[in-house]
Amino acid sequence: MSIQQNLNSIKSAIPEYVTLVAVSKTKPVSDLMEAYQAGQRIFGENKIQEMVEKHEEMPKDIQWHMIGHVQRNKVKYMASFVSLIHGVENFKTLKEINKQAKKHDRVIDCLLQIKIAAEDSKFGMTENDATEILKSSDFSELKNINVVGVMGMATFTDNQEQIKKEFTQLKSNFNQLKTIYSDLKIISMGMSGDYPLAITCGSNMIRVGSSIFGERNYN
Ligand SMILES: *Cc1c(COP(=O)(O)O)cnc(C)c1O
Repeated sequence: MSIQQNLNSIKSAIPEYVTLVAVSKTKPVSDLMEAYQAGQRIFGENKIQEMVEKHEEMPKDIQWHMIGHVQRNKVKYMASFVSLIHGVENFKTLKEINKQAKKHDRVIDCLLQIKIAAEDSKFGMTENDATEILKSSDFSELKNINVVGVMGMATFTDNQEQIKKEFTQLKSNFNQLKTIYSDLKIISMGMSGDYPLAITCGSNMIRVGSSIFGERNYN
């Protein structure tokens, strides 16, 4: 199946309120252009440098999402154009994004990454950490960022029950956090292997790579 066919079949299978982020990491610009020509305008990358290069080469009406771990010293490279940063793990990173956004006279939308997986390898904060940040006066002083939701990654496993439990946890974290911070509206959860389940559990933004572009080759 072509990239266009893959995109169309995913889009026809998900509800309209769910935003599809096409995860294009490691893929060449020609593949991204195929998706672009099929109407896709939201792309997700997990390395800042790679996203910067693709942003330079591609049409300017694309919304670029940073979905990977955010290295604070690299925020400055994407601050002029990034449209949503999914993987914010602590206050220091928010502060740096705010500082760089200010230089460009922008307000950058961010998601707080919550750790829902059992694996140590996955990044993120607890609901308590997020609560503390959202309630703090230091946070209220950051005028150049908008925290608009949460993001999470389930454990890499075939155990559907476990994945479901983790997604349900993120949805409950979101509901809880929204009671103290009403700006929250996005729940970014679900990838190629688990997005239908994620949507069932309350996701409204899915990050899909291999089901659109095919398997990745990291060599
Ligand atoms: C790579 C990646 C995805 C997409 O993974 P697929 O299984 O190819 O759909 C989604 N989210 C994050 C954070 C990723 O790094």
